[in-house]
Amino acid sequence: MIRPSHTDKPVLPRKMCKDLRTLIQFIDIYCHGCHKESPRSQVKLKSHDVNDLYGKDVELCDDCVKLLTHALVKRCICPQDLKPQCKHCPNHCYHPKYRSQIQEAMKYSGRKLVMSGRVDMLLRLLF
Ligand SMILES: [Zn+2]
Repeated sequence: MIRPSHTDKPVLPRKMCKDLRTLIQFIDIYCHGCHKESPRSQVKLKSHDVNDLYGKDVELCDDCVKLLTHALVKRCICPQDLKPQCKHCPNHCYHPKYRSQIQEAMKYSGRKLVMSGRVDMLLRLLF
């Protein structure tokens, strides 16, 4: 069910919100694990209210902010209804540079989630 938002932002379908939240979480885990040395700042995007989607502040390094922006935008314009897993999709829409980065992030975060027992999150793996 789509509830009217208290703001004038367009309301995203729930499935889309879940996917976007998963993307944020995976990149969040990846950045905090792999880019410990990089300075991080709070993510503020023009395209999405990341804090609202994730339910808390998100802090990423510059590279991961770019990756997240790319990932969120691509997910929102995905033309596939009932989006397949990206690796099974005939239409690879990611820029090759971001594609390898997101695969690395997914692999890293997926392993972390297994180790911390968050297998429920893994079921939601996008890649
Ligand atoms: Zn990072």
